[in-house]
Amino acid sequence: MTIVKCAMAAMVVGAVLNTDAEAEKLYRGAPIKVLHVTGGCCHDYAAQSDLIPALIKARGDFKVDVIGPDWKAAKVKLAKADWAAGYDVIVYNICDAHNTDTTLIHNITKVHIEDATPAVMIHCALHSFHWNLGSDKKKYEGEEWVKVLGITSANHGPKAAITVKPVLKEHPIMKGLPATWTTPGGELYNSHEVLPTATPLAMGDNGNAKQGPQVCIWVNQCEQARVFGTSLGHHNTTMQEPVYGDMLVRGLLWACEKLK
Ligand SMILES: [Zn+2]
Repeated sequence: MTIVKCAMAAMVVGAVLNTDAEAEKLYRGAPIKVLHVTGGCCHDYAAQSDLIPALIKARGDFKVDVIGPDWKAAKVKLAKADWAAGYDVIVYNICDAHNTDTTLIHNITKVHIEDATPAVMIHCALHSFHWNLGSDKKKYEGEEWVKVLGITSANHGPKAAITVKPVLKEHPIMKGLPATWTTPGGELYNSHEVLPTATPLAMGDNGNAKQGPQVCIWVNQCEQARVFGTSLGHHNTTMQEPVYGDMLVRGLLWACEKLK
């Protein structure tokens, strides 16, 4: 069983590298030091801890280190005072909705709120670190992680493909992406509250009239830190689409003020 799983993981990563070999180089210059923080509930972070760094590195001069996917061990590292020292941007592909360790959450968020380090938020990062804080997980009630995110989300719709429709086509991140595209699979996160500091860039629509379109790509200005976020993700197949890598790296570069 283990051998089969490893072989499958190798195939997944191999496929990503093959696809990304032809990816457009979006940045050339002094290497941008990226820290990918990954792990937690409900997702294939074992594969994505390779997949996300691969798609970033395929698109230019990036050095990517990883904390995770062992989430228990990752949290020990994230509790250290200098966990983010020396990195230009932190990419979170995590899922820890019920965490109420405000000391840990503060140690993570101060890197952005106080130190102005750019951040990239992927998928379940949007559900993390706020559900059991405050009285209403749909509302921003001063939770530090939500301040960094710029959006609250308390749940998501059914497993279904998501059609992505830009609402701010002229934004530098969106300029390099298709007019619309559809993910192979997905689970559309509800965007319950968009903070005044956040700007929606695209809406996702899974065809479920009851749920309706939701913000699925956005940027946030968290004090002096630029934050790029997308609720798209979940499935490895979605992340392996070239447009996903392009979107993510364009957002990452924008957050670092390096997007041309
Ligand atoms: Zn998910």
